[in-house]
Amino acid sequence: MIDVPEYILPILNILEDSGFEAYTVGGCVRDSFLGKVPSDWDIATSACPEKVLEIFSEFTTIPTGLKHGTVTVISDGNPVEITTYRIDGEYADCRHPEKVTFSANLEDDLSRRDFTVNAMAYNPKNGLKDPYNGQLDLKNKVLRCVGDARLRFNEDALRIMRALRFAATLDFELEVHTAEAIKNGAHLLQNIAKERISAELSKLLLAEKPENILLAYKNIFLEVLGIKHPVPDSVWEENCKAASLATPHLPLRLALMLNGLPVSDALRHLKFSNAVKHAAETITKGLAVEILPDKASIKKQLREFGAENMDYIIKGKCALSGDSEILRDIEEIISDIKANSECYMISQLDINGQDLLEHLGINGPEIGNALETLLDAVISGKCENQKNALLELLKK
Ligand code: ATP
Ligand code: MG
Repeated sequence: MIDVPEYILPILNILEDSGFEAYTVGGCVRDSFLGKVPSDWDIATSACPEKVLEIFSEFTTIPTGLKHGTVTVISDGNPVEITTYRIDGEYADCRHPEKVTFSANLEDDLSRRDFTVNAMAYNPKNGLKDPYNGQLDLKNKVLRCVGDARLRFNEDALRIMRALRFAATLDFELEVHTAEAIKNGAHLLQNIAKERISAELSKLLLAEKPENILLAYKNIFLEVLGIKHPVPDSVWEENCKAASLATPHLPLRLALMLNGLPVSDALRHLKFSNAVKHAAETITKGLAVEILPDKASIKKQLREFGAENMDYIIKGKCALSGDSEILRDIEEIISDIKANSECYMISQLDINGQDLLEHLGINGPEIGNALETLLDAVISGKCENQKNALLELLKK
């Protein structure tokens, strides 16, 4: 029924031969039923972590999170996380269970998991263990909390973001109580580390079509993005439609979702990496300016935004206008510039700092200025990109 990979089977067998239970569990079971190839295979076992280390002493083992019951075993070159059945204790800070108790009972372990579709376990001998009817929810494309949704989000508010993320990436509906509890639980997200939220938001935004979730849970998103002022529905709708339509590139989709809103503040608030923030800011700048079908001005923009971002800016403009026709000319001009290796960056000039020093005795910060001047001249067509011509121009 489920195609458990070869390297997982010995792990299940060895644990069982040692007198313990062992199941594949969580995302890999869910994804298998959805016909997707799981990214990793997690194992849950009744053996305590010390036992797991002992049983796999012949293997390379990494005590990944002994306190939480997780040992990583390398099987045929693949790292496999083996986690002891757990009951999570009280959640005092809406995130970290106060204490973790190990259990010998699979049902305990499944009961602490977030959603029914994530609370299934499977092994080839015993088949599927699915006490919360996750399989039925999978079939009906429903995301439902295990147990009382309100309590589960109170225990760990990151589950709110996970719920929205799974609903978006799996294209599932949120079950009514789960949806209700999310709408009432936005404030709980204040307790959650920003990095965890941005990681979930990123996965959500890269879903094939995140639009519906972004629209239905607008207030949650504004809350986590730290946007306090009211955002008109019309603006949010336009932005989210565009983000959903655009190519799934994180900085581009962030820029579109936050078009006209304080992008930099929001991305800083959620502690996005500098690389993502910088790219999204550049794309935002590009979305705000006009791109004319004129070679010289396009070269200036390629230089300002970089070729990669320029490409995303054009894609973003298409998504915002819902029209790809109008930008076709511009794309043609850009591919022409690239095909002919036409110069729009200093590094493409047929002259460098060394040349300026040798031929004209220019040095220090003057070099940068001179190269900028030459690049301007080349882009605007006043001078050929040819060393002698460039030297002549500077002499003048
Ligand atoms: P993917 O790896 O594709 O994002 P996943 O379901 O494997 O999805 P993980 O974050 O890897 O998600 O977690 C593995 C499993 O651990 C989940 O399927 C779920 O059963 C459980 N889990 C993870 N995070 C939580 C949480 N915050 N609360 C309860 N259970 C959780
Ligand atoms: Mg996983």
